[in-house]
Amino acid sequence: MDQEVLPQTHHMKSAEQTTCCIVGSGPAGAILSFMLARKGIPVILLESHLDFDRDFRGDTLHPSILEVMDELGLANRLLQLPHTKFSLVAPPATAGSGLQFDLHDLKTRFPYIVMMPQTRFLQFITSEAQHFPSFRLVMGARVEELIEEDGQVRGVRYRAQDGWHEVRALLVVGTDGRFSRLRKLAGFEPIASSPPMDVLWLRLSRKPDDAHGLMGRFGGGRALIFLEREEHWQIGYIIGKGTYQQVHAAGLEALRQTIAETVPDFADRVVELTDWKQVSMLSVEANRLPRWYRPGLLLLGDAAHVMSPAGGNGINYAIMDAVAAANILTAPLQTGQVTVADLAHVQRRREWPTRIIQTIVNFMQESLLKAALDPNGSFSFPSFLGWPLVRKLPPLLFGFGILPEHVQQEERRRPGWSPVGTWIVGTIMLLTLAWIIRRLMRRS
Ligand SMILES: Cc1cc2nc3c(=O)[nH]c(=O)nc-3n(C[C@H](O)[C@H](O)[C@H](O)COP(=O)(O)OP(=O)(O)OC[C@H]3O[C@@H](n4cnc5c(N)ncnc54)[C@H](O)[C@@H]3O)c2cc1C
Repeated sequence: MDQEVLPQTHHMKSAEQTTCCIVGSGPAGAILSFMLARKGIPVILLESHLDFDRDFRGDTLHPSILEVMDELGLANRLLQLPHTKFSLVAPPATAGSGLQFDLHDLKTRFPYIVMMPQTRFLQFITSEAQHFPSFRLVMGARVEELIEEDGQVRGVRYRAQDGWHEVRALLVVGTDGRFSRLRKLAGFEPIASSPPMDVLWLRLSRKPDDAHGLMGRFGGGRALIFLEREEHWQIGYIIGKGTYQQVHAAGLEALRQTIAETVPDFADRVVELTDWKQVSMLSVEANRLPRWYRPGLLLLGDAAHVMSPAGGNGINYAIMDAVAAANILTAPLQTGQVTVADLAHVQRRREWPTRIIQTIVNFMQESLLKAALDPNGSFSFPSFLGWPLVRKLPPLLFGFGILPEHVQQEERRRPGWSPVGTWIVGTIMLLTLAWIIRRLMRRS
């Protein structure tokens, strides 16, 4: 039996009991809280920060997310908040390849990507959740300990400005992001892959006659992505893994020059870049947990699998995890009996879509990005991307990802396929996809 060890110094300011304690109010935690609270399930959402202020995060709301918002009755109000949106995606090329992917062809009410600061999105979801009496959000609550008894997680202890507090719960969900404290406390070790890049995010102003949407310039050792925002361009300067110190040492002028040379239209705007504080470095990581749960504890979103930012997968898959978890766990939480089989069902449902997209993104990063970042290499997109049938795939993947989830909290969901069946089908799909891509790459 695991002994509950309570450090002598902890004097609890409060001790609460709830049904579901969710740790971390990022996209996964906020959506899961909303979905459980709307079904009357008592939820306490603990967020370590005092506000939702966060810069340069996954700010893309994909059609899959917008459909979920619609199913939850939130889409119209969400789209009244300031945002930009785009349907045309020009894959990065040396000087604009003319190749474009169009999301208009997708069969959905929302054939576009909405760009909205994550701060605004999270404020919106949590303030909508406040309408449900069973929801409570605690800001400034840093979870530092798990309460474990009899081999089962029974709750958490968090530190707030006024001291320590305790929350006991039937289920604890860790949605506390890429540096997940709960993952460490549970003793889980992620399997990491090493993407060959890091990203420097920065902003430059927009002009009325600029192009719209998402665009990029790759080649000659440089790779830049441009995302249209409300009043500016969000620019991702992709650099080789671990080379930030070199870029920094070369100086701000060198960075300005690189942008100006790569995209001459921006030459007159690079003067806006006057301080390294305007540049935010994202160390691109990708990893996944072999196991997402223990009795009484489930990890979701970045805490279970860190995604490369390529394709906006981080926010999309975090939210899809939350929707799947709410669908599967609503009935068990309502009846007060969450079994390990229920938690395993959530992992089974979400793990293989996550692994497939990680494999595709790894492959693209390894082959295409490496070529783009090689100063002596030449870079061009494979011509098969322009083929009529093939060009329908990127908008589908970008818009919906693999296995988009829908809100289905009404009935008790039974585990569908057996784990073995899921893995056989997943592996066959992966191998087939890798084989097709290899054949096509060789031909072009
Ligand atoms: C600089 C940056 C740029 C990014 N750019 C992109 C991008 O362009 N495209 C993309 O798709 N993704 C991007 N991402 C990743 C994307 O933001 C994440 O994949 C997504 O937000 C994951 O959602 P989540 O809910 O799982 O976790 P997070 O959004 O990380 O939320 C975790 C929450 O848990 C809280 N927390 C952490 N520890 C504790 C604790 N001990 N107690 C209580 N609360 C805690 C955190 O404060 C945070 O609010 C970026 C991430 C970063 C950091």
